[in-house]
Amino acid sequence: MLHKFPSIIKSSRIKTLNPCISLSRFCHSKAKVGFDTLNQPSAQNNVAVFWDLDNKPPNSFPPFEAAVKLKAAASSFGIVRSMVAYANQHSFSLVPRVVREQRRERKLLNQLENKGVIKSIEPYICKVCGRRFYTNEKLVNHFKQIHEREHQKRLNQIESARGSRRVKLVGKYSMKMEKYKNAARDVLIPKVGYGLADELKRAGFWVGTVSNRPQAADVALRDHMVDVMDRRKAECLVLVSDDSDFVGILKEAKLRCLKTVVVGDADDGALKRVADAGFSWTEILMGKAKKEAVSVVGKWKDRDILKRLEWTYNPEVERKLNGCEDLFDIDDESQDQDFDNTDDENSCDSGAWWELETESDGDASELQ
Ligand SMILES: [Zn+2]
Repeated sequence: MLHKFPSIIKSSRIKTLNPCISLSRFCHSKAKVGFDTLNQPSAQNNVAVFWDLDNKPPNSFPPFEAAVKLKAAASSFGIVRSMVAYANQHSFSLVPRVVREQRRERKLLNQLENKGVIKSIEPYICKVCGRRFYTNEKLVNHFKQIHEREHQKRLNQIESARGSRRVKLVGKYSMKMEKYKNAARDVLIPKVGYGLADELKRAGFWVGTVSNRPQAADVALRDHMVDVMDRRKAECLVLVSDDSDFVGILKEAKLRCLKTVVVGDADDGALKRVADAGFSWTEILMGKAKKEAVSVVGKWKDRDILKRLEWTYNPEVERKLNGCEDLFDIDDESQDQDFDNTDDENSCDSGAWWELETESDGDASELQ
């Protein structure tokens, strides 16, 4: 039975020496204070962006530009390490009203140009070969007949090649294919939706498509957020959504001492009430969020410093962290009292722990 005790004492001692060990699993930023900081991958300053596309599609703004602006705003909170966007198939194939109107307008202009009613001041220039056209429709036809075919041929060649030959072909064609893609974006209408997924990928987002079941994107996004938190990949989470279903995950992030930023249009939304900072899409697109982020980051720094001071100096917190210390304190105090008693009643032989010594003294005197 006795051999059990040393281990108990040991574990309580570790707790006394370093409360971080019990805390670090739960609270990210506390690990910075602890002794085991050097062994852990640092998530300090890392920002992860999560975009709920089903809830907040970049409808009235070109998706690539919206994504770039979002990244720029997020980067004022730290180094953007990961950007993910989730939506169901329906959202990716949908064409927003604004885009539909633009297309209708273009169609109308094409008809007028073809009839010779109106004439574009600047000629339409093919961005692949540089040829000039007087009507948009002629440019589109040229592009489809020449460049789209070329592109398809290259893709087929790469597709049928294997091994090192495939690698060589990809290298050989990469520049041309990039040039084609950039030109095609302006000339051709995307086959699916308005090219939302491709545009976000181009801006550096990882894009996840989920089934059309309700809440499927929410669940996938939440799982992804939990994964990032568990692996301590980021210190700051930027969530683009107005969906109150994310309140729980934001609270969880705060419990783990992560910083949280919400981008949504609901001014007094449930998410913005929980998060450390909140912005609207307009603020992101106007670059206003970047300026405000400076003051938010300043507040965070102050908060971190305060937290560290509290942790170091607040005896209240330390006492709460482990009950053992209370016991030790009480022991020390009672011992002090005992010693005080001995000083006061030095001559008195009240039955105390030193009685044994007087006995041995007596023995010694007998021997003498
Ligand atoms: Zn051309």
